[in-house]
Amino acid sequence: MIHQVILKIASRCNLNCSYCYLYNHQDSSWKEQPKFISDEVFDRTLYVILDYCKRWTSHQVALVFHGGEPTLVGPERLASLSSRARLVLGSSLASITLQTNGTRLSEEMVAVIGQAGLNVGFSLDGPAHIHDAVRVTHANRGSYSAAIHGLERLRKAGIEPAVLCVVNPYVSGSEVYRHFRSIGLTNITFLLPDVSHDYKLSWYPSESRTPVADYLIPVFDSWLCEDNPDVVVRPFSELIASMMGGNGEGDIFGNPLQTYVMVETDGSIEALDTLRVCSSGITKTTLNVLEHTFDKIKDLNPMLHRMINVGFPLCVTCEKCHERAICGGGYLPHRYSLAQEFDNPSVWCDDIKLLLEHMRSAIGVMAT
Ligand code: SF4
Ligand code: SF4
Repeated sequence: MIHQVILKIASRCNLNCSYCYLYNHQDSSWKEQPKFISDEVFDRTLYVILDYCKRWTSHQVALVFHGGEPTLVGPERLASLSSRARLVLGSSLASITLQTNGTRLSEEMVAVIGQAGLNVGFSLDGPAHIHDAVRVTHANRGSYSAAIHGLERLRKAGIEPAVLCVVNPYVSGSEVYRHFRSIGLTNITFLLPDVSHDYKLSWYPSESRTPVADYLIPVFDSWLCEDNPDVVVRPFSELIASMMGGNGEGDIFGNPLQTYVMVETDGSIEALDTLRVCSSGITKTTLNVLEHTFDKIKDLNPMLHRMINVGFPLCVTCEKCHERAICGGGYLPHRYSLAQEFDNPSVWCDDIKLLLEHMRSAIGVMAT
């Protein structure tokens, strides 16, 4: 079932992060997209969401304003899109989140975010020298300073963002985490680098067999040692919940059904955005909100239907793995190869095994 619609209100970005799955991996279809969403596509998307929600009693959908960089639409348009979404969707709207790189958060923009009641997802990869090595402008200048100013402005307005940090296998996770805590961040999600089997070695050649675990394990230890219930760090909190028999909430582990769809600026309904690291055009469907409602996904795009409603079976290796219940084969793009599609373990399999083993021994939970 769809619980979230990730809506690209801008298809371009003021940054050019080296690892960006949208601009710097296998897919260049963003070039064909209108720079900004039109009123027609936006309103039609709201109608399609409303139509979907009405099929069930009290079903709600969360809206994420995404890009590229969504603040490129400007404060006025952001205000009007937000109020339009609240007006049209009413009680069918669970929340609106703005996913931003934080570098364009002027006082006016922050005032709009506050007035519109937007949640904020904020990308930050660590202290200046780590962040600036990868999160750069088109002129190859670091974006840390602009992002930190944005963070300060948000906080002045009483808005605390949820921070997303992409694991950089070549830096110290400890240093990144220490920095995050030193600037008072309490809601942090570490994302595994997006890459498929075909391109892992060209993107992440490493002397270590487990560079991602090498980064994450010290972060986990610091978080555990601090033992502060107000500091939430994903995926650790979700993995511990799964180890204790609960359900993790994210889609990185556990092989859950996807609960969201993407809508591009031209209205195309697409599959999981990060699949763009796998091959060109992989996220494409023939569906568009200008012509279709979400119930047509089943007939017109088997892959997207499978992601949302059926799920992908695990490969033979994962089926036999003792971490199957927690790991679930890893995040879909990380399972992909051109030869075998999703029928592989995660590219980060060794890292996941080591991390889970370490976490279990640190919190004293036995493998099942
Ligand atoms: S800010 Fe996000 S969308 Fe923009 S280049 Fe960086 S990763 Fe890509
Ligand atoms: S740890 Fe590796 S083999 Fe086990 S389920 Fe995860 S990806 Fe598959």
